[in-house]
Amino acid sequence: MGKKYFTLSFDDGLEQDKRVIRLMKQYGLKGTFNLNAGLFGARGEVKGIGTFSFQDCPEGVRHKWPFSYVQHNRIPKDEVLQVYEGMEIATHGFRHESLGAVSEDEMRASVDADKAALEGLFGAPIVGHAYAQGSTSPAVQAYLKERGYRYARAVFPSGGYEFPENPLNFRPSTSIILKDAMKLVERFKREEAQDRDLLLYLWAHSYEMDYEKGNASWAALERLFEAVAGRSDIVYCTNSEAFSHI
Ligand SMILES: [Zn+2]
Repeated sequence: MGKKYFTLSFDDGLEQDKRVIRLMKQYGLKGTFNLNAGLFGARGEVKGIGTFSFQDCPEGVRHKWPFSYVQHNRIPKDEVLQVYEGMEIATHGFRHESLGAVSEDEMRASVDADKAALEGLFGAPIVGHAYAQGSTSPAVQAYLKERGYRYARAVFPSGGYEFPENPLNFRPSTSIILKDAMKLVERFKREEAQDRDLLLYLWAHSYEMDYEKGNASWAALERLFEAVAGRSDIVYCTNSEAFSHI
């Protein structure tokens, strides 16, 4: 009999992660936070919803409807250890580099710097990565493998629960802010893990909940957490725990 695993993944190390973590703890959920060690404390704003439409905006510029900018402030280095206690930490590019688009030297330098800094800070080995902008390549995946990584997440949704054939370039089930997230949760609860393990893998940026629009809202996030939580047939785990057995 297979098992059903549920895990969460949040990118960029933002102030809004604190609110997400409070909710995760309230509902007994676990997950992984993907940090850029070269950008701790960096402040800014973004507009639009989701990875595909945001646009950086200089700090201090005021905006009006319809732009709906929200804060994109990263947690300072001296706070991260306390904020992320009990959660897994993974790399996300030292300064958010698109690893598949930069030179091989830059790619290696970005991975090495982020991994070394985060392992030093948190005192634990880093075995996971989330691709900034979803950018990857066979060379990136080979290097991550060489450096001891067990999994690396892309961006586009799979819409399913299969453990990936290539854990170093896998699609999440979906993004929390997409319409199908709640449907996938409800179907996952009914699904039976017969001869294989199943994985429901949801990701987002915590700042997206500040849009307070559709699924990108704090109330929708809590409804989703509540819907998936508290079941004896689901293993609530970090990304590396989910991938540790494959
Ligand atoms: Zn990012």
